[in-house]
Amino acid sequence: MNAQVRHPGSTALRRRVDPSALLTLLAGDEPGRLLHVHEVPARQARHADWPEWTDPALLAALLGQGIERPWSHQVAVAEAAHAGGHVVVSTGTASGKSLGYHLPLLSDLIAGTAAPNGRGATALYLSPTKALAADQLARIDALALPGVRAATYDGDTPTDERRWIRDHANLVLTNPDLVHHGLLPGHERWASFLRALRYVVIDECHVYRGVFGAHLAAVLRRLRRVAARYRAEPTFVFASATVADPEEHASRLLGMPLTAVTEDGSPRGAMTFALWEPPIVQGEDGEPKRISTLTETGSLLARCAEADVQTVAFARSRAGVEVVARIARERASGSLEARIAAYRGGYLPEERRELESSLRTRELVGLAATNALELGVDVSGLDAVLLAGWPGTLASLWQQAGRAGRTGERSLALFVADDDPLDTFVVHHPEAIFGRGVEATVVDPDNPHVLGPHLAAAAAELPLTVEDEAYFGPGMRPLLDRLVAGGVLKRRPRGWFWARHDRPTDHLSLRGAGEPVRIIESRTGRVVGTVDEASSHAQVHTGAVHLHQGQTWVITELDLADSAAFAVRGDPGWTTHARSVSDFEIVGELEHRDWGPLRCSFGRVRVRTQVTSFLRRLPSGEVLGEHPLDLPARTLDTKGIWWTLPVDELESVGIDEVSIPGAAHAAEHASIGMLPLFATADRWDIGGVSTDLHPDTGLPTILVYDGHPGGAGFAERGYRRALEWLGATRDAIASCECEAGCPSCIQSPKCGNGNEPLDKARAVALLDLTLRHALAHAGA
Ligand SMILES: [Zn+2]
Ligand SMILES: [Zn+2]
Repeated sequence: MNAQVRHPGSTALRRRVDPSALLTLLAGDEPGRLLHVHEVPARQARHADWPEWTDPALLAALLGQGIERPWSHQVAVAEAAHAGGHVVVSTGTASGKSLGYHLPLLSDLIAGTAAPNGRGATALYLSPTKALAADQLARIDALALPGVRAATYDGDTPTDERRWIRDHANLVLTNPDLVHHGLLPGHERWASFLRALRYVVIDECHVYRGVFGAHLAAVLRRLRRVAARYRAEPTFVFASATVADPEEHASRLLGMPLTAVTEDGSPRGAMTFALWEPPIVQGEDGEPKRISTLTETGSLLARCAEADVQTVAFARSRAGVEVVARIARERASGSLEARIAAYRGGYLPEERRELESSLRTRELVGLAATNALELGVDVSGLDAVLLAGWPGTLASLWQQAGRAGRTGERSLALFVADDDPLDTFVVHHPEAIFGRGVEATVVDPDNPHVLGPHLAAAAAELPLTVEDEAYFGPGMRPLLDRLVAGGVLKRRPRGWFWARHDRPTDHLSLRGAGEPVRIIESRTGRVVGTVDEASSHAQVHTGAVHLHQGQTWVITELDLADSAAFAVRGDPGWTTHARSVSDFEIVGELEHRDWGPLRCSFGRVRVRTQVTSFLRRLPSGEVLGEHPLDLPARTLDTKGIWWTLPVDELESVGIDEVSIPGAAHAAEHASIGMLPLFATADRWDIGGVSTDLHPDTGLPTILVYDGHPGGAGFAERGYRRALEWLGATRDAIASCECEAGCPSCIQSPKCGNGNEPLDKARAVALLDLTLRHALAHAGA
């Protein structure tokens, strides 16, 4: 069959190639790039009987859809929830997780129609995106069940429809933001819905991690408390992609124990999962350079299309999707060009359905997409999946890989490493992906910076009393004292009351802290997007060239007072890089470990960062000039992990005083890049500072901190897993074949110091020194 496949550009007759044979072919053509092949065995289906309490109309509808018997995990979830037990289901993509909660939920809703008001039972379904809620609604509508009145409720729902939903719907599909901004503050208007509330489903719950997870945890506590006011005690069902510890994660979100269903009873075809690293080649300027992941993925997509292997390639950004699709079209032969498309998310439902259908008919053979496709478009049963760079978490990796595989046939998933220490590490250490789950989801429900404002919101919903500690934990009382001192709440004999005239939820967004900075097109006044307040100084300072959804903008003015950045469209031909200075203060060490002469600490820190200037750079890297900026310093009170290394110890491993800054800086960059593998963070959620002499410790010190006020739990996870994390960091640097450091190991795209100084060899020596002492004192 090999003879049928030609290099891109050929017009040979195509014939579908077995996906794993295709891999052999690709690897043969590009030696050295395929680093690992892992075989995921096929799984046999395990069925169970329909629960005998299943409503007959529901059963008939499901049988009518061709579902003859449920899978074992679906029944396990259904039985647990029907018995009133909180439950989390964590099984593979396309394993039919929703049927598990549909059985009890829809059965109860139908039974509830016999109540005097026709609404004896209600349910709330929460998803992180509107598209997913719309999909759920379509699935439930398709069952055409008598008495089930389901509706989506989001920011776009018209006012009159909202009223109908509140008064009549028995299944409301919405998102946590709306529960926070609408349902809870206006709970009186939802009284009859809340009184009958039987189930709350939290779909895609692995998405709620870090600060977003802490927000969801607070919203769920507020919901439980308000529901209790209406004498409702709903059963919570969480659905998640495969994560390391779904029970721990979901129970932290909920604040109550629950059971986990993880034995997947659905059948799965065998999958070949391969790890691929783009090679280093001679660049145009004669310097060695790694081929970009997007270019590599684009040409792999073309090769798959050539072999008639239907493939989706996932890239992390919309701009990345464009690049992958463009390269694939360029490299595929003429007639195939039209059968390769880009999907950027944010499409209308009709457009999405059209896309699904052209994939089903194989009219499309190649598709480049962001992970927006993960939510909102039903694409499964493809032949192959390409992943351009680490998708953020192991859960997403498996979820995206799971898009491949039609019944009974072998599929292919190919991970293409990006220029990043984490990517470098995982392709050289496949056990990080295929071994025991290295990453558990991080949520810190007690973060006072998150919990405080939610307590204010809760007090506005219903006055708080000491009993509410049962929901909000022991952190509640000190935070209430602070809110009273700040004039936000009033303490009265009957509890804590909201003391102001506005609504607390108006000032609190679940998705990020602070007021976002709007990017405004100067000519039209149109808001084209937003940037986090925290990153605005570095990204949209006056003079910045800013890439927004694949378009280039030049910022003409950053107006801090008005949280606005004015921009004009256009590409000046150079890029800009903000330069900044950072330092930090140790506010309080919470824990530490002595590693012989080294000390590793976790605690509260105050990080001060000031963006001072920016560089203009040509695509070749040549610097056109440096331009000073007059921006105020920002301080961030957060949590961090830091470790100190005595100068004589460093000296003993060949790091003399002048090389300390380069070694520490490089180790800091790489360790930031590696932390997401252990802490489900994004690289952008974490920051770092290194110094050869810290005023508080008197020693060379490396700090890695959470980039969110109050911390997000990432640095703490790094502290708990320090040995593995720093070991992986060391290996990522050492296994990179570059000479003196590159973006795959020690260079960071967000360095405020222009990636200087960096010392690759001595960073490895510094980490070896750290690990030697840490290992010798492990457990001590
Ligand atoms: Zn490198
Ligand atoms: Zn740096």
